[in-house]
Amino acid sequence: MAEPLHPEPETKAVDPNLVATLSGGTKVKRRLARQRACNEKSDKGKLCAGHLKRWFFFGDEVKRQFGAGAEIYRCEHCQTLYLPNPDEEPRSGTLSY
Ligand SMILES: [Zn+2]
Repeated sequence: MAEPLHPEPETKAVDPNLVATLSGGTKVKRRLARQRACNEKSDKGKLCAGHLKRWFFFGDEVKRQFGAGAEIYRCEHCQTLYLPNPDEEPRSGTLSY
């Protein structure tokens, strides 16, 4: 199962936070800073606003792309996956040398 990704050049209006789309159609997005709720929009333009919960049960496709120990969050409403925001690393703010 080492299929290459199939980018769709036709699709122009993509979410800037979209990282990947899995083969099953599940979107993987980057969380915004302090984002707690899903910001996916339905066909009617309604905000999903589902809760983002830490999720551990991702399959091989996610493991292959983001690592087996990846920090993954999932919208409990539309199942969109979210990666943590790099600005939100649990660090004290300053770099220690
Ligand atoms: Zn959602």
